Amino acid sequence: MWKDLSKEWQETFKLAWEAYQRGTIPIGCIITTQDGEIVSRGRNRIFDKESSNPLAGSDMAHAEMTALFNLKADEHPDIKTYKLYTTLEPCPMCFGTMVMMNIRNVFYGGRDGFAGALQLNDKMDYIKNKNIKIKQGPQEIEEFQLILQTAYEYTRKHSRIEEILDTWREINTPCIDYGKILSDIGYFELAVNEQKSIEEVYDEVIARYQRFKKQQNFKEMMEGIGNIVVATESTLAGWVKMGLRLWPHCTDEELKTIFLDILKSDKEEGLLYYLDNEYVGFINVSIRSDYVSGSTSSPVGYVEGIYVKSEYRNRGIARELVRAGELWASSRGCKQMASDILIDNNISYDFHKKFGFDEIERVICFIKDINN
Ligand SMILES: [Zn+2]
Repeated sequence: MWKDLSKEWQETFKLAWEAYQRGTIPIGCIITTQDGEIVSRGRNRIFDKESSNPLAGSDMAHAEMTALFNLKADEHPDIKTYKLYTTLEPCPMCFGTMVMMNIRNVFYGGRDGFAGALQLNDKMDYIKNKNIKIKQGPQEIEEFQLILQTAYEYTRKHSRIEEILDTWREINTPCIDYGKILSDIGYFELAVNEQKSIEEVYDEVIARYQRFKKQQNFKEMMEGIGNIVVATESTLAGWVKMGLRLWPHCTDEELKTIFLDILKSDKEEGLLYYLDNEYVGFINVSIRSDYVSGSTSSPVGYVEGIYVKSEYRNRGIARELVRAGELWASSRGCKQMASDILIDNNISYDFHKKFGFDEIERVICFIKDINN
């Protein structure tokens, strides 16, 4: 998430976003002193026709070049101690310029399978002897960069797009797939029109991408076991509507809040059954790491709630939902699945027995207020 990025990466991505907003390739670059003081900023300006930057409009206007261009040698005698941050792995031109300008510390976001040239660092004695230290940033920023840049490349519609994207797919296929989805729905263009800040865009994209990845993994796991989808914000309305039938004491607002929390949680999931163009059932599952009655392993998957619309019952849908819940729990390291019901709920009791749950114990719950 944005708040977890270092100040340096935040500044670098602000510039990448600025480039995107100006219709050019979304790559940003900063150069700092050893102590982190920013001495130069750059961003891609190849397609930025209105820019007054001397490199703008030329194929030299890469983010790193526009940042390096500002550094006059006699004003920066300590350049060897400087740190250069760029959101994408530098190309041969930029890396060569860094070598010749005495940059010795390079941090980059996404790997670039197409034109990335950092492998040159140990390919030639002249460069090798410079002892340039290269470090990739956190995985999340590679993801963001590749998603943003994939979406950009699709907008640019140039002839070699698939050739470029294939080299990126070798690095990180799901990011390229997701970048395509965001391009199809015009996500980034909309964000520009709505003047969203990079903070908002970054967090939104990363959160959505996490869901997408979960859904992809789950889809693979689910192959052949039915029409089950992982709950998302777009399925919220149908999910809440069914939830109100299962928990009639809750209000619409309460359930929305609870379900939105499930979407944010790593330890909970909602799985919905889709049939005849509507959601006809769901199961809410969770991972419990505290002791669960009768369990001999930990953590344990837990059925927090299961529901199938009355007209769709006795068609095996609940069985598939339970199976999906089990697969979900097992994908998170659980070996057992647990559940609970109210003591007089005979329908639910029969349901659990039918799907292979054994009764463990009958519990009477107590509560009292603590008097201070
Ligand atoms: Zn470059």
